[in-house]
Amino acid sequence: MRLSRADVVLGLQWGDEGKGKIVDALAAHYPVVARFQGGPNAGHTLYINGQKVVLHQVPSGIFHEGVYCFIGDGVVLDPEVLLTEVRGLQALGLSPTEKLVIGKGAHLILPVHRWLETVSAEGEKIGTTRRGIGPAYADRYARRGIPIEWIDASDFSERVYALHEYHTKRFPHAPPPEISAGFWEGIELLRRLPRVSTSEWLPQFESLLAEGSQGTMLDIYAGTYPYVTSSHTTIAGVLAGLSIPPQVIGEVFGVTKAYATRVGEGPFPTEVFGEEAQWLQLRGNERGSTTGRLRRCGWLDLVALRYAVQINGVTRLTLTKADVLCGLPTVKVRVGGSDTAPQYETLQGWQSLEEESFHDFVKFVENFLNVPVWGISTGPSREDWYVRTPSHGTHVS
Ligand code: GDP
Repeated sequence: MRLSRADVVLGLQWGDEGKGKIVDALAAHYPVVARFQGGPNAGHTLYINGQKVVLHQVPSGIFHEGVYCFIGDGVVLDPEVLLTEVRGLQALGLSPTEKLVIGKGAHLILPVHRWLETVSAEGEKIGTTRRGIGPAYADRYARRGIPIEWIDASDFSERVYALHEYHTKRFPHAPPPEISAGFWEGIELLRRLPRVSTSEWLPQFESLLAEGSQGTMLDIYAGTYPYVTSSHTTIAGVLAGLSIPPQVIGEVFGVTKAYATRVGEGPFPTEVFGEEAQWLQLRGNERGSTTGRLRRCGWLDLVALRYAVQINGVTRLTLTKADVLCGLPTVKVRVGGSDTAPQYETLQGWQSLEEESFHDFVKFVENFLNVPVWGISTGPSREDWYVRTPSHGTHVS
């Protein structure tokens, strides 16, 4: 095995921290960028040459020459969404099919999985994105799911219909979904892409960058259950989803906004309401890239962040969207108290990210968490970021 280093980008909050942008910024240093969990509920928004691109299934390394984009075993993959995304990238002049490689252990999302989220009301309560992700993971754990490996089996379509019928029979009064032409076209696309054994393919490279989706507080175990996603968004998911050993984990880049947001229901101790929330939603463009839903907004929760840093073993932090807070006279951060009665520290605000008060905020965060704030993102574009703490003996800039 050649693989000696797997660096990881993880969201430390409730998702939407700006992971895609950080992955894009780091990707050129690695031969492979690998998604390890989640499905098309990810919505990594990138601004490339002024053009907005939202990636749901394709890893955020796709804009770099000579970088493979790997979809690992821990992922659930919707072939229709992948097809649409590949076509969209082709329309931008890219050749995504030359870079995409799929782990055979990833599982398929079928049209019936999406349908299940519309016939049962459960997803609504939890705030799922209704992309069939929860039902596809549920089938995987119930040992009924369909791994990518099976798309070459002679009875593949029978297996798809069997799972489809298994579910549609459970809800006989609901009009059943179609297994659409788009689904089968997506399967044809998958048949043209390299499908590999993850444990054999990845170790041929010296290094890789693992790309997380959603955030730590949405992890199925470590998050705010039941208001969580269906997979491991934490460091544990990297090992399982990519079949790599812990010894190769190098830097764990944790990404956090300078404030907090959450989509859907569930506890959010630092949430703000009314005008304060609207101000953040508007300034921060806090609307989900996958669902279009307005995100709940609040102050930075350093207590939750300390937990996320600890369980993931974060070695470097990247702070995003501090520019959104420009112009506020003061900025609050949670430093203690209970979830129902959080305690805040009020810090001086900043007009621009050049000001001393912003640097004091960064140092406050760093001291509280005892991890260096390594990167600062200063705006949505690819160019809007800088490395604050130089790297020590690593090959990333
Ligand atoms: P991801 O899923 O973690 O990649 O995050 P999303 O793409 O869902 O959300 C992050 C949003 O914030 C995107 O629209 C980014 O373009 C934008 N963004 C990222 N970093 C910054 C930043 O530093 N400042 C501002 N204003 N926007 C940012």
